[in-house]
Amino acid sequence: MKDNKLNTSIEFVKGVGKIRAKILKEELGVKNCFDLLNFYPNKYLDRSRFYKINELSDTNIYIQIIGVFKNITYKKSGNKYRIEGLFFDGDSNIKVIWFKGLSWVEKSISLNSKYVLFGKLNWFEKKPSFVHPDFEKYENFKNKAIKLQPVYSSTEKLSNSGISNKYFIKIIKSLFDFLDNQFDENLNETINKKYKLISPRQSFYNIHFPSDYESLEKARFRLKYEELFFNQLKFKLTHNKIKNANSGYFFPNVGSKFNKFYNENLVFELTNSQKRVIKEIRNDFSSKKQMIRLLQGDVGSGKTIVALMSILISLDNGYQTCLVAPTEILAFQHFKNFQENLKYLKLNISLLTGSSKISERKKILNDLRNGTLDILIGTHAVLEDNVVFKKLGFAVIDEQHRFGVKQRSKIWKKNNPPPHILIMTATPIPRTLTMSLYGDLDLSVIDELPPGRKDVITVARKDKNRLKVFGFIRDQIKKGRQIYIVYPLIEESKKMDLKFLEDGYESILKEFNSKEYSIGIVHGRMKSPNKDFEMKQFANGKTDILVSTTVIEVGVNVPNASVMIIENAERFGLSQLHQLRGRVGRGVYDSYCILMTKDKISDDAKIRIDAMVNTNDGFKISEVDLKLRGPGDILGTQQSGILDFKIADLVEDEKILSNASDDASFLLKNDPKLILNENYNIRRFILNNPLNKSWNEIG
Ligand code: ADP
Ligand code: MG
Repeated sequence: MKDNKLNTSIEFVKGVGKIRAKILKEELGVKNCFDLLNFYPNKYLDRSRFYKINELSDTNIYIQIIGVFKNITYKKSGNKYRIEGLFFDGDSNIKVIWFKGLSWVEKSISLNSKYVLFGKLNWFEKKPSFVHPDFEKYENFKNKAIKLQPVYSSTEKLSNSGISNKYFIKIIKSLFDFLDNQFDENLNETINKKYKLISPRQSFYNIHFPSDYESLEKARFRLKYEELFFNQLKFKLTHNKIKNANSGYFFPNVGSKFNKFYNENLVFELTNSQKRVIKEIRNDFSSKKQMIRLLQGDVGSGKTIVALMSILISLDNGYQTCLVAPTEILAFQHFKNFQENLKYLKLNISLLTGSSKISERKKILNDLRNGTLDILIGTHAVLEDNVVFKKLGFAVIDEQHRFGVKQRSKIWKKNNPPPHILIMTATPIPRTLTMSLYGDLDLSVIDELPPGRKDVITVARKDKNRLKVFGFIRDQIKKGRQIYIVYPLIEESKKMDLKFLEDGYESILKEFNSKEYSIGIVHGRMKSPNKDFEMKQFANGKTDILVSTTVIEVGVNVPNASVMIIENAERFGLSQLHQLRGRVGRGVYDSYCILMTKDKISDDAKIRIDAMVNTNDGFKISEVDLKLRGPGDILGTQQSGILDFKIADLVEDEKILSNASDDASFLLKNDPKLILNENYNIRRFILNNPLNKSWNEIG
């Protein structure tokens, strides 16, 4: 579309005017013609169907009927008049009431001619009636041949200002007159042909005023495709730009550290997925371009070892490395794990967290600067500005979704050019989300678990079965296993939260006497050293039962623990449940996840619990989660803004997204700067569109 017209205030569209333009802007944020054009109906009413009055039920909301007015009469209550009419469809009558525009109604209706009555039903004492329905002579209606009627979302203020659905239809119709034929083509021939896309004007027209479902579908397809195509193209342009702008550290050698570890110290065979991912990382390391790679893999799929071995390559090439984790517990565990795994390599590894002592911290900062520290493991503390490396070449960020984009970028600034980056996710997220959120990253996936891993047997149990569950716990402890019992974290009320946990702890102490059993407790509000102490006790097998909040959610690894009991499981989100379940089944033992719930739970909670019981596959779990909650909620408010699609739907449109993504890749492969004639439209759209002002990725 030509920019000038699209940027014009809607005030100038026939039928809008200053006052209404102001209201539309305030209520809907619709300012200019572009906004109005993109203010799509939120549903369509089927106007090809006529109902009979005697088949109506209170599930029918908007309906239409053909019939005749048998009478219309003025009635009065207090000093207010209304008109009541009786409308007859050949079999039955329905009452129709008007409170406003009475003389106009009286004038317009002629008794005994055929009318189409259309509107929202009112139900009172199981009887339907209409208040202020649309009515139209059947002859006129027939000639218009409306099949689907758009319904625009409205607000109270809009309706009170006379901005009705009818009004929207009117002004959007005049918008099309106003814009005339000035709709720009933003895609190229090849794509248009490949998908037999309808023209831009047609798509916009049909999304507002479809003549039937088929044309609506075609319009929706084009608009979705275009939206997703530019989403993907933008990512790919950014990606290319970063790749071209940042030369990366060149790590040509796989040297003695990597080889010694691989040949002498690695106690298991890598899975094929792990091997593939390490190869992908090695390729990046020797590409002379900065690596920015996202590693996805289910809980327990063995991402850490991939990070560790990649770190060794960096060290082999003379560069320092760091690993950042979202919690102290996790950072500590990585630290222990690295120390243990790398004990034969004589490396200098340190842990830096918010609770590191001043003297320790001083030494670490010093060693970092003079280059004697090889691997720094830590929390957010690592990102602080005064943490300066001599030669940082590679950074690993574990459990990415807890970090904001801002924090991510802090790592970049720790060296110039920026270090290679590997981001590891805690739980899988659906493919569509990965593509539309991390499209600017290269993606590696570990899609298998190490061999011999058994599924965690997952069951749901009601509170009333608690005694049996306790019996089961005793059996497991007798076999030498350890147990987690997790209580929900209720954000709104930290106090309640603790109470849940403390009550739970009390009841466990009562049930399992302290002579026979040792029971620990951890929660987020304990001091770090105490928390660490409790975790260590559990990790070293000194504690039989660990009662905790979700602080143990991410990454914690105690292979001897075989039972995860989740209290009030109905309160947890799916990905959290899956994360928690991933704390067991890490050793050779049969493992169990017991989801304790109230006797009655909501439908959504039931779907979540069922999904957990039915599958151990984190990718499948994440798909269910996406369907239940939508992308915004999965990612949290922080990132969801990125996914403000106007029409594309990440639950429904996976196929369109992946096609659009492939098309964008193919396009850029042949024409990375979008300079070919055939891609002129695409380039112009990117450079000119008011939404894309910040897209300066192409030269
Ligand atoms: P996550 O991907 O959830 O971070 P971890 O890296 O913590 O998983 O690995 C989980 C456990 O699996 C660890 O105890 C690790 O030593 C072990 N592991 C990783 N890879 C393999 C493998 N190829 N064979 C056997 N065990 C493995
Ligand atoms: Mg992990």
